Amino acid sequence: MDNTVTKTNSAVRIENVCCYYGENQALEGVNIDIPRNTIYSFIGPSGCGKTTLLRSINRLNDLIPGFRLTGGIYLNGKNVYEDNSNEYVEHLRRGIGMIFQHPNPLPTSVIKNMLLPVKEHYKGNHDDFVKLAESKLKLAALYEEVESRLNKSAMSLSGGQQQRLCIARAMMLEPDIMLFDEPCSALDPISTYKIEEMLMEIKEVCTIIIVTHNMEQASRISEYTSFFYRGKVVESGPTPELFSRPKTELMDNYITGKF
Ligand code: ADP
Ligand code: MG
Repeated sequence: MDNTVTKTNSAVRIENVCCYYGENQALEGVNIDIPRNTIYSFIGPSGCGKTTLLRSINRLNDLIPGFRLTGGIYLNGKNVYEDNSNEYVEHLRRGIGMIFQHPNPLPTSVIKNMLLPVKEHYKGNHDDFVKLAESKLKLAALYEEVESRLNKSAMSLSGGQQQRLCIARAMMLEPDIMLFDEPCSALDPISTYKIEEMLMEIKEVCTIIIVTHNMEQASRISEYTSFFYRGKVVESGPTPELFSRPKTELMDNYITGKF
């Protein structure tokens, strides 16, 4: 009984995960439990395995020759590495949105960017899809900014607008989980603020995992944080506690900028 409760409360459970690129080990014995409808930050210096772990959740690393993972990553109690069929892996990736440091809109109109993913995966009425697109653009606080140029190229938007468009586009598939890999590191503070506002809205409907180098950002928006160092998770816990009372000297040094 207790077991079931734990399973339903966690969106992602990472159990004793080790990752290797050929001979090189990138992650060692990582354990993290990510509760549903929360924002969870991964922090730590570059090269410590944050991106590797993020990309392991939707099995993107499978595409890298020589990549190997041991341990398990559980979504709704199922180890995502248990089933290697193309059908399952496609289904898994469809339920997990991913946003990168540099926005990657397609070189087509704003509205086509929004409609292409749903049209590829679902049959439905065009007008309903347009309505859905409008609601997701509103969620991104982008609708008013692009209402008059839905048929203009997405490439004509500012960097911050492009990033919000990419998030809105990912939300079209109503993912359970959204992965963000340093989504604001190429953006100015105002665009960053707008994205943070958006993340606070999105977590009502999905679970967010974000890699960030911005410690203020992690404190502002995330309920939980894990600190990575050289392929290991050194500390995890509720963000306010982790930042105000770090348990290790490593974490203390990192947050006080002594690295
Ligand atoms: P972070 O996101 O914390 O900066 P990464 O997950 O990108 O760290 O990298 C962790 C380690 O894995 C690094 O030593 C990096 O060189 C290595 N690595 C990352 N991607 C690849 C790859 N595609 N092929 C080989 N090694 C990689
Ligand atoms: Mg990275």
